[in-house]
Amino acid sequence: MKILIKEGKIINPKKREERIADILIDKGKIVKIAPRINCAGIEREINAAGKIVMPTLVDMHVHLREPGREDKETVATGTKAALAGGVTTVLAMPNTEPAIDSREAVKLLKEIIKEKAHSDVLISAAITKGRKGNELVDIENLAKEGVKAITDDGSSVDDSQLMLKAFEQAKKNDILVICHSEDRSLAKKGVLNLGFSSTCLGLRGIPKSAEFERVARDIRLAEEAEARIHIAHVSCKESVEIISQAKKRGVGVSAETAPHYFSLSEEDLWGFDTNKKINPPLRTQADSFAIKQALKEGVIDLIASDHAPHTENEKDIEFQRAEFGTIGLETALAVAATELIQGKFLDWPDLVNKFTVKPAEVLGIAKPEIREGREAALIVFDPVKEWVVEENNFFSKSKNSCFLGKKLKGKIEMVFYKGRFI
Ligand SMILES: [Zn+2]
Ligand SMILES: [Zn+2]
Repeated sequence: MKILIKEGKIINPKKREERIADILIDKGKIVKIAPRINCAGIEREINAAGKIVMPTLVDMHVHLREPGREDKETVATGTKAALAGGVTTVLAMPNTEPAIDSREAVKLLKEIIKEKAHSDVLISAAITKGRKGNELVDIENLAKEGVKAITDDGSSVDDSQLMLKAFEQAKKNDILVICHSEDRSLAKKGVLNLGFSSTCLGLRGIPKSAEFERVARDIRLAEEAEARIHIAHVSCKESVEIISQAKKRGVGVSAETAPHYFSLSEEDLWGFDTNKKINPPLRTQADSFAIKQALKEGVIDLIASDHAPHTENEKDIEFQRAEFGTIGLETALAVAATELIQGKFLDWPDLVNKFTVKPAEVLGIAKPEIREGREAALIVFDPVKEWVVEENNFFSKSKNSCFLGKKLKGKIEMVFYKGRFI
């Protein structure tokens, strides 16, 4: 089937270029990119004038919840949500029930993915058995099974000696360590950022030090082991400074943030909206600005959703008891476009780079691009269309979005993947 996408502004993040041209797709492959393609036998023509055409995205922080918490999300529903968000590769987090901490667990998950997934799913495994922080998993065997990274995401490994060993093993087996950097002895039972809002609302706060002290420790340990380290969900200015200094020293550190950290702040919690209860918590407006600046300067390499689905029972309760987390796969690109493009922090090639080439680099997979000869995996994005995030439109099984009711500018019009439009 021949498809022609006409006059779209094509973004190629790898070369950081943008140009207006036509794209001819035949049998799922890009066969020609040129201005004004005329060709016989076109079965579908898409007018993309005024639209952005970009490669599909890689999201390296996604909780698919399967096995064990299929009431929140499944591989099937989570990857459908991914496609709706223009994401065709996700890295699944291992804090399932049971946790992905053995070869057997990885094999089981691979079976589920093979049968049910609508997008590509890469697997990460836990750092410690059962994510309990006591005993390392068999990193060598898990690497042989093809896991892309290890992480105890959801918590941090408190035992520094154990964490150092994890880095050493990871280095030996050339595997990435992703750090959920949180010192629980500092976070205690806090439910939002410690500061003005926590005082006014009379709720227990989480100090920023709970994050940045652990970011500093994790980086120092990785540095000592000469291992690669990726810092998940950076939320505050101090963490940015620590990462920036480490990069200057030549440490193999990369970092991600999630859209809520640069689009919302602690003031958004004044309505006690539990969908905005996230860990690490929404910080101050100054932090949100620092995150945007860090994305601009490249200190934060990439954007991931930290898609964390929870059921209504876990969210529609009083603030203190509600679970931490927000879904994000289906809104990430539009939120980023609204905040970072409209706010003039990034241009299109830079923004797309942070959703495609950068995560692909960190994960060591092929870099998404729109090029002749490659399989067509692309998004047609309307940069001016305004829309409001609504519960009923999510493909995710859970509806706990911190962006419900938010007006966004820019909307995915269609996604082309594996030979068809979605
Ligand atoms: Zn986390
Ligand atoms: Zn997470």
